[in-house]
Amino acid sequence: MQIPFAEQIVSVFQGNTDAFTWSIGLILFIWVVAILWTMKDIGARTHSVWIQILCILLVGIGTPVVGLPLYRLLRPTRYKWDRMWWRESLALQIVQCYACGSRNPLYHDHCVACGSELTTKCKECKHHYQVHYEYCPACGAPNVEE
Ligand SMILES: [Zn+2]
Ligand SMILES: [Zn+2]
Repeated sequence: MQIPFAEQIVSVFQGNTDAFTWSIGLILFIWVVAILWTMKDIGARTHSVWIQILCILLVGIGTPVVGLPLYRLLRPTRYKWDRMWWRESLALQIVQCYACGSRNPLYHDHCVACGSELTTKCKECKHHYQVHYEYCPACGAPNVEE
């Protein structure tokens, strides 16, 4: 016998059909859960019904062992609400501190967590604006380090 423990495993199943039934039941359970999870996950990632059906078939036919890793490789990386305009609008209202990474409202001049300066002064018109801006929002002059 080349495979270690194979004889024992076979004898366990032969002597105990309950163990065999339980194993099949467990595999089916994992399979169904994998399909349900895929339905939920792909539904949150795309509006396209065809892509949804294809992905569910991939996991359903491909089994959780083969289909699930393939699905995770091929699925759209972003949730569909990440691409919504209001999400981007909200992001425009928040600025991340370059020193400590804390999030601050756009109107803060200093970070509430570490006190670092969040704004810079325009070299042309002296307008104050966020340090990560590429151009001055008041006059359009480029944000350049002195
Ligand atoms: Zn900070
Ligand atoms: Zn300016």
